[in-house]
Amino acid sequence: STAIVWFRRDLRLADHPALHAAAAAHDRIVALYVHAPEEEGQGAPGAAGRWWLHHSLAALDASLRARGGQLTVVAGSSLDALRALIAATGAEAVYLNRIYEPHLVRRDAKVRKALEAEGIAVQSFNGSLWSEPDAIVTKQGGPYKVFTPFWRVLRTHVEDRAPWEVPRLSLYPVSDDLPGLVPIDSLALLPTLDWAKGFAEWTPGERGARGMLELFADDALAHYTEGRDLPARHGTSRLSPHLHWGEISPIQIAAFLRERAAKRRNGADPEPFLRQLGWREFSQYLLYHFPTTTRKNFNPAFDAFRWARRDAHALRRWKEGRTGIPIVDAGMRELWATGWMHNRVRMLVASLLTKNLRQHWTLGERWFRDTLVDADLANNVMGWQWVAGSGADAAPYFRIFNPVSQSEKFDPDGAYIRRWVPELADAPGRLVHAPWEDPAFLKASGYPLPLVDLKTSREAALTAYRNLRHAP
Ligand code: FAD
Repeated sequence: STAIVWFRRDLRLADHPALHAAAAAHDRIVALYVHAPEEEGQGAPGAAGRWWLHHSLAALDASLRARGGQLTVVAGSSLDALRALIAATGAEAVYLNRIYEPHLVRRDAKVRKALEAEGIAVQSFNGSLWSEPDAIVTKQGGPYKVFTPFWRVLRTHVEDRAPWEVPRLSLYPVSDDLPGLVPIDSLALLPTLDWAKGFAEWTPGERGARGMLELFADDALAHYTEGRDLPARHGTSRLSPHLHWGEISPIQIAAFLRERAAKRRNGADPEPFLRQLGWREFSQYLLYHFPTTTRKNFNPAFDAFRWARRDAHALRRWKEGRTGIPIVDAGMRELWATGWMHNRVRMLVASLLTKNLRQHWTLGERWFRDTLVDADLANNVMGWQWVAGSGADAAPYFRIFNPVSQSEKFDPDGAYIRRWVPELADAPGRLVHAPWEDPAFLKASGYPLPLVDLKTSREAALTAYRNLRHAP
């Protein structure tokens, strides 16, 4: 018998529960990817995400071709694509891994209902999380809203099963006549601007993900606790885009690191890193249980917060990395050039936008969604709401980051700033963090004056917050 494996955010062959189950139960597998961004709502890939998707689909197609098959890529409605492929191949069943974003939960339920009514079996699996959102509840039976107790339960599931190898696959033979089949190029996922050339440092696909994990385990894991806060270093894994597209699973990551630690004496302790992956899981958990928080404040008390009027000029300078605050501009320029930004710096740029400039967090969320190669609805919304102070388990509002002291602390010699803000490459000493302190230097450097006064804008933000607390 023949089954369709519907690939979505699980663009890999190893440790792929749907593929694993389909290969065990059927003689032939048809691999399908449907490009249907209009079905994904706010979770549809932005420009940087589409760049990644293009290359990741090509990598998956190449892996399938090496095994005698191909990836059947179709653009349009998922249900139509599945129906047409079922008719053409005689498939009896559809296998897929679940996604927990609100639009896709609804879409998948609709597709399942329609296909089951037509006699097609639909089997779905958890292919992306250590534990599914439904499985972790508080003693009262509701969802957790605070990370640490959630993590305590989630941690007990990290080793629930060992990762699976790529199963022996008997793939539907390469055929040009499959309905709707289009070349990956025709999806026009690549930008027409020459903007993504700095993305060449990434290797989308399953093999690239594995390489990134090995590099991290060799070079950075041992120093992760301190190194993860230093943006000038490669102190983190950079697995985020690979995880978003499911080119590697958290089960594979944990098993790989555990094996390494066991093999080597003095092997690095993976716990702090695994806990960070727990935050990824927490964000999907929150989004699943509180689906309206993609746009609405997680904490409704925040609805009364007085944001400043939308400031198109400030927003543009923030996007372009010309706010005149060096650590913020370095981050925004890193983002534009590479599609990625260091986590510490994400917090600083988000804090400047939502607190010093008091622009609504959804404005920043939207820019990140379009420009990050790891743009991920759940992580992005949680990150923005966390910094803004409206989120679950968020940073207390009154703790407003000071970008100058943060910069001095985490980029002490300014190496990160100098890399991304060439105007300041030769700034002496402390001026790299606060160039306005020497007006003559600032003028000669060609670097802009700060967009806001950090001190007065901080006070204005605190006043707005105090008013919120006293609001009826
Ligand atoms: P590592 O430190 O190596 O962590 C490993 C993995 O754990 C990451 O790949 C990621 O999957 C997960 N992780 C780590 N930190 C977090 C976190 N704070 N929240 C959720 N998951 C985490 N991450 C995204 O993947 N996509 C986004 O769109 C996104 N938007 C963000 C927006 C803001 C305002 C902030 C403050 C954070 C955002 N993050 C987002 C979280 C975090 O910045 C990135 O996951 C991290 O920088 C990715 O780099 P890494 O893979 O080297 O991280």
